[in-house]
Amino acid sequence: MNKMYANILPWSYSSLDSYATCPRRYYLTKVVKLVKEPQTEATISGNEVHKALENYVGGTAPLPSKYESYREVATKVKQTAGKKLVEYKFGLTKGLKPSEFFGSDTWVRGVLDVCIIRPEEVIVLDWKTGKRKVDGDQLRLFAGAAMSLWPFAKKVKTGYIWLKTGELDTKEFTPNDKPEIFQDFAARVHRLEASGKNDDWPARPSGLCRNWCPVGRNNCEHCGV
Ligand code: SF4
Repeated sequence: MNKMYANILPWSYSSLDSYATCPRRYYLTKVVKLVKEPQTEATISGNEVHKALENYVGGTAPLPSKYESYREVATKVKQTAGKKLVEYKFGLTKGLKPSEFFGSDTWVRGVLDVCIIRPEEVIVLDWKTGKRKVDGDQLRLFAGAAMSLWPFAKKVKTGYIWLKTGELDTKEFTPNDKPEIFQDFAARVHRLEASGKNDDWPARPSGLCRNWCPVGRNNCEHCGV
């Protein structure tokens, strides 16, 4: 495997999303790692919230009082019937067989915030700390992953839990959806691989260039503009 490939595969939802947002930024921060993505306050606090909820729902620690407003929804999840897995790290091979998160044959990897396993169905939930957005794209990957990890499931229910408001966005999938889900993601991975093969990482200017991109003017003419 050449160095470029070693740095773009395995992929995750967030790596594909970063690539789609701006290939140049992705290349500089994730492939050659010339530039470090700064940790934002939102990321730091989001990580803390995830840890607190992992411990609470997993039963290893009480919910810290500063997250009291999340107790109701987190308790509902904790009390939902079924075997619970929290912050479940998965890997899948290109043939969509389970592998290690850091396995040598891992093609895609991810972390599922909460999985509830029942005899015939699986529920996958994702805590969201930001502002609610209507976008079920990530849920599709979670569903595809769950169908590959627990192939006995006749149904996969997925949901975003918007912690600020307690709102829930849900979507249900069946094994019939799996081929289309992975065809779609494979096409996106193919574009990422083509960038790697051709060493072609175009800049994709957007509203992020002015204040939110760390690459610097020497790496991209749009930075700060
Ligand atoms: S400044 Fe804009 S176009 Fe340039 S790398 Fe950053 S996000 Fe991409």
